[in-house]
Amino acid sequence: MTATATRVLVLNSGSSSVKYQLLDMRDGARLAVGLVERIGEGSSRLAHTPLATGGEQRETEGAMADHEAALKAVAAELAADGLGLDSPELAAIGHRVVHGGLKFTEPTVIDDAVLAEIERLVPLAPLHNPANITGIRTARALRPDLPQVAVFDTAFHTTMPEYAARYALDVETADRHRIRRYGFHGTSHAYVSRTTAALLGKDPSEVNVIVLHLGNGASASAVAGGRCVDTSMGLTPLEGLVMGTRSGDIDPAVTFHLKRVAGMSEDEVDELLNKQSGLVGLCGDNDMREIRRRIDAGGEDGARARLAFDIYIHRLKKYLGAYSAVLGRVDAVAFTAGVGENAAPVREAAIAGLEEMGMAVDADLNARRSGEPRLISPEYARVAVAVVPTDEELEIAQQTYALVSA
Ligand code: AMP
Repeated sequence: MTATATRVLVLNSGSSSVKYQLLDMRDGARLAVGLVERIGEGSSRLAHTPLATGGEQRETEGAMADHEAALKAVAAELAADGLGLDSPELAAIGHRVVHGGLKFTEPTVIDDAVLAEIERLVPLAPLHNPANITGIRTARALRPDLPQVAVFDTAFHTTMPEYAARYALDVETADRHRIRRYGFHGTSHAYVSRTTAALLGKDPSEVNVIVLHLGNGASASAVAGGRCVDTSMGLTPLEGLVMGTRSGDIDPAVTFHLKRVAGMSEDEVDELLNKQSGLVGLCGDNDMREIRRRIDAGGEDGARARLAFDIYIHRLKKYLGAYSAVLGRVDAVAFTAGVGENAAPVREAAIAGLEEMGMAVDADLNARRSGEPRLISPEYARVAVAVVPTDEELEIAQQTYALVSA
């Protein structure tokens, strides 16, 4: 890396998509952002916004057969703005990798051995790790000399004590099949818990925070002095909170029942719990804006949406209670991601009635819209309630840059 290399390209490769951001690490500024969708399908689409030049979003449609074609198209777009992958200013590429197992507790420079280990984890994240691996392989082929760093969604949770991470299953079976609670959204929980501490003017080591990452996927974490001590997602992202399309916590015997009594196959049960449950299963919608609109419209349809909302909130309250007990002392609750950052009614309802736990929300502060981290609790409240916009790309870029510039 040259002394002038201050840019990091962040890649988030999905099975048929690649999201990317190019950041300048001197100030965290975004130079370009974009998304390729429908890779491997007839009509792929690349949307690229060159923020550095103040240019408009450019859209390209056309077949991109695979991730290599997609990344080459991204590289061409970046090059058109003078931000090409061959630029000496590019310090590294940071890859989001969903599953790092127990092995990867930190961001890691990728070599052949690291890649092989990420492959060994495919059975634990069959939908995500293969796409991440494809993105890494393609990027390495394009710039073999450039450091490439894997930043793992599970890493922040590897500090969980054994009694929080282990299921009460037969130990030998669990260990043989690597069954334990890993947790996900770790990059977001790390970023948001640290930013919440900064908002309180404290060092992360001084505060205990409950982070509620409420997006289409949703997870809670209990962070004590900057270290994760519990989180709601488990072996897979299915456990925990009610999500857009996932059930979250459920009696595992429901799955036996669905197979034995309803005659469903393994794949059908998987599809039901991951894609057709949660808010969508309860009321047909997974967009919180639409759910609130239906509640406000009233009637029978509104009652159905209300029940979905109430189930969602009830689960949130249970986790707030559980993690308050786990932490002993809570300094802050931080809401983040699409729902957490935007849905004031969710924040209000989740905290309502928790005054005895020191938690309250100020209606005016809660109603205010802003893209900045902010407090929404009244001054008298013992526990700070905050809204903290998450920024997983910035966190990945910072972790990547810290590693390659050390
Ligand atoms: P994410 O996965 O973090 O992108 O969050 C996506 C979810 O955020 C959507 O499914 C919506 O439910 C929710 N969301 C986004 N914007 C709003 C908004 N203005 N009000 C309420 N919910 C929102």
